[in-house]
Amino acid sequence: MAEVLVYVDHVDGAVRKPTLELLTLARRIGEPVAVALGAGAADTAATLAEHGAARVLTHDAAEYADYLVVPKVDALQAAYEAVSPAAVLVPSSAEGKEIAARLALRIGSGIITDAVDLEASDEGPVATQSVFAASFTTKSRIAKGAPVITVKPNSAAVEAAPAAGAVEALAVSFSEKATGTKITGRTPRESTGRPELTEAAIVVSGGRGVGGAENFAIVEALADSLGAAVGASRAAVDAGWYPHSSQVGQTGKSVSPQLYIASGISGAIQHRAGMQTSKTIVAINKDAEAPIFDLVDYGVVGDLFDVVPQLTEEVKAR
Ligand code: FAD
Repeated sequence: MAEVLVYVDHVDGAVRKPTLELLTLARRIGEPVAVALGAGAADTAATLAEHGAARVLTHDAAEYADYLVVPKVDALQAAYEAVSPAAVLVPSSAEGKEIAARLALRIGSGIITDAVDLEASDEGPVATQSVFAASFTTKSRIAKGAPVITVKPNSAAVEAAPAAGAVEALAVSFSEKATGTKITGRTPRESTGRPELTEAAIVVSGGRGVGGAENFAIVEALADSLGAAVGASRAAVDAGWYPHSSQVGQTGKSVSPQLYIASGISGAIQHRAGMQTSKTIVAINKDAEAPIFDLVDYGVVGDLFDVVPQLTEEVKAR
C-alpha cells in the first residue's frame, strides 16, 4: 500500500488533536508514516501508533526550537526523499501552511491548502475545500508530483486504529538557510483555560450585537458552560471589545467545530468565510432577516441578553 507522510504537530511529545485527525484521513488514502521532530519527538510514537501510524520517523535537534520553519522543512524533505510517499499531509496552522508551501516548492509538487475532507481515487487523493469566502465547495486533485495537502482542524474524527508505530531515526542534514532566522524570545499568551479557537469542538462567538467589551462576559459564560472557545466578529474586534486573535473570518481565523454558536452576528460573507464549514451552526439574533439565518441549522430570533444567559443556565443544569 502507498505510504502517506503525516507531519506531527506536538508539544514536548504530546500530540495535538489535528495530527490525530490527519491520521484518520491518511488511512483513507494509504498507510500513514508520521514525521515527529524536536524535543519529545520519540515520545509521540505510542499515541501515533494507537491512531494508525505504521512507522514514526523522529529527529531531535536544537535547530527545531531555536529557528523558524526551515529546519522542519529540511527534515520533512529528508523524510519525503526516504519514503517516496503518495502524499504529504500537514495540519493547516499558520506554521503548517508555511512548511507545506516550502516543501511543495522544493519537491516540485502541487499543494492544496485548508482541505476539509480527503478521499482516494485512482488518480490520487481528492481534497474537498471551501473556497472564495466559502461561496463554493470544490473537489481537487494535484496533477503534478506527490500532493502536499494541509487539512483544517476538526475536519475528521479522531479514530483509534492500532498499528505498529515502529520508531525509526530520520537522517537530516540542515540546509544553509536552516539557521537563517533565529527565534530570540517567546512571550507566552495568558491562558484563558479555554480550548484553542481553531481546534475547539465548540465555538461561541459574539458580534456587534453584544454591544461592548464588558458584555462579552455572557458569551464567555456560555462558552465555559459548554467547554468551548470564544470567537468574535471583526466588528467586535475592531471596536476593541475582544482580541484580534479571536477573530473568526476571512481576515481572522478559520474554524470548523462540531458546533458554532453566533450571537449578535449578522452573517456577512467575510464572517461566513471563517465558520461556514462548522458541522452545526446556531445563531441568536434579534433581526429575523439577518443573513446568518440563511446558513444556520438552528436559529433563535431574540435578544441575546435574554437568550444567551437562559441557554447558559440550561446547559449548566444538565
Ligand atoms: P453587524 O453586521 O453590525 O451585525 C450585528 C448583528 O447583531 C445584527 O444582525 C443585529 O441584528 C444583531 N443584534 C444587535 N443587537 C442584538 C441583540 N441585543 N440580540 C441579538 N442580536 C442583536 N468580518 C468578520 O467577522 N471576520 C472577518 O475576518 C472579516 N474580514 C473582513 C475582510 C474584509 C476585506 C472586509 C471588507 C470585511 C471583513 N469583515 C470581517 C467585516 C464584515 O464585512 C462585517 O462588517 C462584520 O462581520 C460584521 O460584524 P457583526 O456581524 O458583528 O456586525
